[in-house]
Amino acid sequence: MTDTVSGPLTAGSIAGAAYIVAALLFILSLAGLSKHEKARAGVIYGITGMVIALAATIWLTLQDTWGTGHALTGLGLLVAAVLVGGAIGLWRARVVEMTGMPELIALLHSFVGLAAVLVGWNGHLEAPALSPELTAIHHAEVFIGVFIGAVTFTGSIVAFLKLSARMKSSPLMLPGKNAINLGALGAFIALTVWYVNDSQLWLLVVVTLLALGLGWHLVASIGGGDMPVVVSMLNSYSGWAAAAAGFLLNNDLLIITGALVGSSGAYLSYIMCKAMNRSFISVIAGGFGIAAPTSKGDTDQGEHREITAEATAEMLTNASSVVITPGYGMAVAQAQYPVAELAHQLRERGVNVRFGIHPVAGRLPGHMNVLLAEAKVPYDIVLEMDEINDDLGDTSVVLVIGANDTVNPAAAEDPGSPIAGMPVLKVWEAENVIVFKRSMAAGYAGVQNPLFFRENSQMLFGDAKARVEDILKAF
Ligand code: NDP
Repeated sequence: MTDTVSGPLTAGSIAGAAYIVAALLFILSLAGLSKHEKARAGVIYGITGMVIALAATIWLTLQDTWGTGHALTGLGLLVAAVLVGGAIGLWRARVVEMTGMPELIALLHSFVGLAAVLVGWNGHLEAPALSPELTAIHHAEVFIGVFIGAVTFTGSIVAFLKLSARMKSSPLMLPGKNAINLGALGAFIALTVWYVNDSQLWLLVVVTLLALGLGWHLVASIGGGDMPVVVSMLNSYSGWAAAAAGFLLNNDLLIITGALVGSSGAYLSYIMCKAMNRSFISVIAGGFGIAAPTSKGDTDQGEHREITAEATAEMLTNASSVVITPGYGMAVAQAQYPVAELAHQLRERGVNVRFGIHPVAGRLPGHMNVLLAEAKVPYDIVLEMDEINDDLGDTSVVLVIGANDTVNPAAAEDPGSPIAGMPVLKVWEAENVIVFKRSMAAGYAGVQNPLFFRENSQMLFGDAKARVEDILKAF
């Protein structure tokens, strides 16, 4: 623990002060990131806090080891780790596509989990000499840290595999899956009590394997439609894993930062569950209590109708109001710039244009908002689902640009659907719906969309960017 008592300034008290400044900057960063307008400032606060935290930690380590043979080796290892890690991070962040962000984030969460497991194992192998009471606390910290870290590690790897389509997004439905999860949790509690009293290495091996299996199973049991909540839940787990590592390393800042990430991630998961009409407990417990879907919506829906870009342009110029509901396909096509230009041109012609954003459209929370902000769409015409849903019935034309699950009427109308109960944009209530996509393929949740076969719907096939550019040419 850093020394912050009054008296002459010590290395510990200076580092303690730096940690408090860094922690405040992290809180300001979170506050900034919650609003579009302040997000950039939020990122700068976060970077500044992290630079201060790293500098203070390096300085403190040097002070502690100065004069010993370890100082230079320690400094060398630290600098090498920061340079290698920083270079890889910079390279990945520069080359990653916006659509690849969720899987990158999932992979980064897995590193935090792995780090917590390694710190926990180190805490066992290099156990400090402590009084019996403190030893019991140390053992509990080791065991809980390894457990949370290992669940986060494999859970995040499964999330990475599902998000990058290397593993199917439909839920794994093992018989007795809830009993498996509950049994694993019960075994963990029993093993913790045992380990606190008798810290044998084999118990640590068992809990590591148990937690690795549980993390894998928890996330594999979640269906594609619920993945957004899982990503934010793993974000939360990675925060608690970091906080557990902070206790073991006696690092106050790691405890504070971990708790900030853990609690904000948990709160985000809760908000997303509410927005998607899902039970928070069910989702964090690997789909506990959720019945297996009974329908995939693959019954015969009839014929769909197609429309050309020219006919769409004509329909749009005659419209009084247009709502654009973007989804993952807009991100894949990088269509946000022509879409912003389309909105601009229609507004110049006096059409009332607004955007309707579903809370989980795309592949990460806020994905669509970021893309539209990048293309300079004014914030005041970008509305949340709840703000626009009641107006859709009075809208002349809805343009569904690369969205699918988030506009699927089955969520509202088919109780057996895997996405049943999830609130969706009620685009089918509009006078006309034009759906931009490349084929009749299903969305991320793997469910057919009856919207495509409704009488007021028409399909505009092809890459969304090319089709929107065709409409602009036709104006
Ligand atoms: P969907 O994944 O449901 O559908 C995207 C659609 O875009 C597809 O139907 C696809 O059809 C179309 N598309 C893909 N590429 C192009 C292109 N180049 N041009 C035109 N169309 C294209 O997207 P939504 O945004 O509606 O829904 C998000 C889904 O992802 C939900 O199920 C959500 O739960 C899940 N999810 C969300 C996360 C989040 O945090 N927001 C995280 C993880 C998952 P086609 O192939 O025929 O072109």
